[in-house]
Amino acid sequence: MTVDVHLGDEQGLDRSRRYLRPVARLQLPDEPDLVHLAVYEWLPQFEAWATGPAICGRSTTQGPLPEGTLVNCNQCAARRPEYEGHFAALVPRQPDAAPAVYDAATLAVLHAMEKAAEKHLDAIRPHNTKRSYANDWALWEELHDWLAERTGQPLPLTAFTKGTLVGFVVWLDTIKLAAPNSIDRRITESPSPRAGSVSKYPKSSP
Ligand SMILES: [Zn+2]
Repeated sequence: MTVDVHLGDEQGLDRSRRYLRPVARLQLPDEPDLVHLAVYEWLPQFEAWATGPAICGRSTTQGPLPEGTLVNCNQCAARRPEYEGHFAALVPRQPDAAPAVYDAATLAVLHAMEKAAEKHLDAIRPHNTKRSYANDWALWEELHDWLAERTGQPLPLTAFTKGTLVGFVVWLDTIKLAAPNSIDRRITESPSPRAGSVSKYPKSSP
């Protein structure tokens, strides 16, 4: 079973806050059959939403159970108010002045932009990022071969101009029929293998 490390984002949770969530016991023979409570929070160092141990101290299965799940560990239930009080004290109440500053329409747009940015970042950060970039560079070279065949003039691979980059996208779209997501990523992250290698490229003689 895999854990969805972005579940918290999908549920609209705030990465700067901590939540209490029901969690399942470890599937070990001597483990009492109880549903516990654990802190659920965003761990930036792992780029993941994760649950900690139960607040009663027991180890648990990673990931939250659905929010309504009945917590039947008495120790967890007993400590719940303490934790909730702790969170309230720890997390500065967001100045809910937001509605006074932004109207609903503005907030809706900001929210949509946040969501879109998250989706975009997810889309451009696949797990196989490196292989994908290597593949992009191979495609970039392939474009140059393709162009050279047609124009008789090989272009330097380091010529990142508006013309070559847009040409690359159009070529991918029309000739290579790439998926829209990968085109999007190629526009935002041009296929330079190393930063700084772009600077000078020879003027092509006519
Ligand atoms: Zn417990």
